[in-house]
Amino acid sequence: MPRNYELVYEALNASNASLSREFDLLGRAPGQDQLDALGKKHFPHHHRANVVEGAHTKISSELAGMLRLLKQEQSSLESYSKLLGETYHRISAKSASSTDILTNVVGMLSNATGDTMEKGKVVVEHMVERAREMEQVKLELDEYKRIANTDPLTRLANRRAFDEMLSRIYDDSRGAIYHSLIVADIDHFKKFNDTFGHPVGDRVLGVVAAVMKSTLRKDVFISRTGGEEFAVVLHDTSLDVTTEIAERIRRAVKATPLKNQKTGVDYGPVTLSLGICMASDAESAEELYNKADVALYAAKNSGRNCFQVYRPELNQEFEKNWMLYKS
Ligand code: GH3
Ligand code: MG
Ligand code: MG
Repeated sequence: MPRNYELVYEALNASNASLSREFDLLGRAPGQDQLDALGKKHFPHHHRANVVEGAHTKISSELAGMLRLLKQEQSSLESYSKLLGETYHRISAKSASSTDILTNVVGMLSNATGDTMEKGKVVVEHMVERAREMEQVKLELDEYKRIANTDPLTRLANRRAFDEMLSRIYDDSRGAIYHSLIVADIDHFKKFNDTFGHPVGDRVLGVVAAVMKSTLRKDVFISRTGGEEFAVVLHDTSLDVTTEIAERIRRAVKATPLKNQKTGVDYGPVTLSLGICMASDAESAEELYNKADVALYAAKNSGRNCFQVYRPELNQEFEKNWMLYKS
């Protein structure tokens, strides 16, 4: 065993007379316990160092574990984690002596937690537990928010989420020039309800929502803003692309067969009228929505199943009627 070498070497070397004498007294085959007792007496620094080294390793790994947990669990605990980080760093520094490091670490942790290492550990456990609870609360809040912003019938964003999204356009520091709005309204929707009943009307709403979703990119904001009206908010999109998208939606909805699989009843085609307004043509979210709606009204007036882009002349032409239609 390596720790015996120095003992035997020193005993045989006779530089330490009492060690040599006691070593001789142990006889020809001394036990390890006897050798350790001798070593402890004559080389106490080695044994202390071993104890310190052991504690050093243990504390190092415990702190590393805590640090990992803290880092994973809660970034708002940054300051404490930073302290543990510094402590860990000091422990890892090979230059300092183990005893110094230990003293330092125990001192730092005692100060940090106001008590002993043991208490410090409990505090960390509590913090980690609390961080987990906070994470859980956050998930629940996210879920509540999702429900509050979702239309239950179509699973699209609802009017509330739409209003929020639209007002955000005008909070954009770059200005509103890069955004556009498409509003879409099902043509003669009342007919579906009157002819086939309200549940069929609901199903038609679901189908239109699904077609819009599958026609547009996943990150495009689509909402059901009311009854049989939908809205699409486009970011960083030109007028040309906006009209292309409106036309794509119109075609996709028109091309969707509405047939009851069980009874074979054909509910006939469903079509949309759409109104477009570029965000740069309005000063506020409300104005943008109204102008897109004026364009939608113009589309209804030009025979339905088409889109119209807002332009100021539409106001003169339709404003009075549009106001009546809105009331
Ligand atoms: P237009 O082409 O001018 O838009 O005619 P329209 O019949 O689609 O429009 P109108 O505003 O006259 O009728 C809309 C109908 O939508 C009236 C209302 O009962 C129905 N509606 C609104 N919300 C719902 C809903 O959630 N489910 C069902 N089934 N019908 C709804
Ligand atoms: Mg309608
Ligand atoms: Mg309508």
